[in-house]
Amino acid sequence: MDPRRNVPRTDVVLADPRLAPAFVHSGRAAVKAAVVQTLDRVRSGELEPDEVIDAALAALPAGPRPVLNATGVVLHTNLGRAALSPAAREAVLAATGHTDVELDLTTGRRAKRGRTALAALHQAIPTAGDVHVVNNGAAALVLAATALAGGGREIIVSRGEMVEIGDGFRLPDLLESTGARLREVGTTNRTSPADYERAIGPSTGFILKVHPSNFVVRGFTSAAAVPELAALGPPVVADIGSGLLHPDPLLPDEPDAATTLAEGASLVIASGDKLLGGPQAGLLLGDAALIERLRRHPLARALRVDKLTLAALQATITGPATPTWQALHCDPETLRARTARVQAVLTAAGVESDLVESPAVVGGGGAPELTLPSWSLSLPPAYGALLRTAPVPVVGRVERGRLLLDLRCVPAESDQALIETVVLAASQAG
Ligand SMILES: *Cc1c(COP(=O)(O)O)cnc(C)c1O
Repeated sequence: MDPRRNVPRTDVVLADPRLAPAFVHSGRAAVKAAVVQTLDRVRSGELEPDEVIDAALAALPAGPRPVLNATGVVLHTNLGRAALSPAAREAVLAATGHTDVELDLTTGRRAKRGRTALAALHQAIPTAGDVHVVNNGAAALVLAATALAGGGREIIVSRGEMVEIGDGFRLPDLLESTGARLREVGTTNRTSPADYERAIGPSTGFILKVHPSNFVVRGFTSAAAVPELAALGPPVVADIGSGLLHPDPLLPDEPDAATTLAEGASLVIASGDKLLGGPQAGLLLGDAALIERLRRHPLARALRVDKLTLAALQATITGPATPTWQALHCDPETLRARTARVQAVLTAAGVESDLVESPAVVGGGGAPELTLPSWSLSLPPAYGALLRTAPVPVVGRVERGRLLLDLRCVPAESDQALIETVVLAASQAG
């Protein structure tokens, strides 16, 4: 028989109720294109007619997919760093339509963009003269460097703080791209206040202090502290990286914005999506006149944050504890008990796993030395790819030839979804 006779008609396939949700999510044109392309594969004999619906759904263009982070890395750069809190998600959703982001509804006049988010940030750090928010930490550095040291003025920075932040991006390159000149002082392991002092001159724009957030230098080391630098005269810009607003006893080596300002920094720069647990953003806090110079600089317009970011940031700052905070502060004993419950359900479903002690880490957001006591389910490594490519992808980490699933960063309400994914993978692993 001619196989072409078995090829379903496009309009019949498009009317299949199983495709109805796809019309809502992907639009009619994309669904039709996927169906036409899939029917070609049936015509060529590659697919059976009864496989058309599943294949068409699989062929739809996919956006970024939600995944369960079972890596035990709280801020995983490849998984989008911080997960937003439910409050921040709701705020984002509410801001997706038209909002009063730049309008005063009482007077009907234009208002300062993002004023409620900026006020929330300022209220969290009242000792800052003023605050500003841009796209990310790197943008905040670029804005500060351009506005305060552009046109060939100098940024004085320690050789021990010329860091690469990841994926080949290096802070010195970023700073020099603004037209500022770097005046390197000290050595890789030791830099004193006197080193900075000798470099100060008429062309000094500012002194930059960078927190080494992804490495540590140990042994015969010394660095100048912010109070010592602040006594030298030029403004001190402190890039603290992590975004802690206040000290966290769990993270004693991570600087925070409030303390750094109190120590005399003129400007503090931090990321929004690291330890703060919010959206990607660059926070600038400090001297009101400096902040105003940054805000008025033409480049500020190119680094402006979106209304969704402002909404998420405000809800992160004013709302309940973020998923990042909860993952960092979760009680190991509670986590062990929860992991044991998941293990018992898996065992009942015929999937064998081990419950092992396995330290978790903060990740790209900071505290490179810190490990958090944690627990994981240990599975054969063949599960790795099966879990990643499942309908609800689960990402674990491979250690000493085993796949570890740490539930610390998995929302408890997703345990059932995780279990179903593991059971599905077990049936495929055979
Ligand atoms: C992460 C980090 C940056 C870059 O911030 P992004 O928000 O990723 O652009 C800059 N400096 C330090 C010290 C950092 O830790």
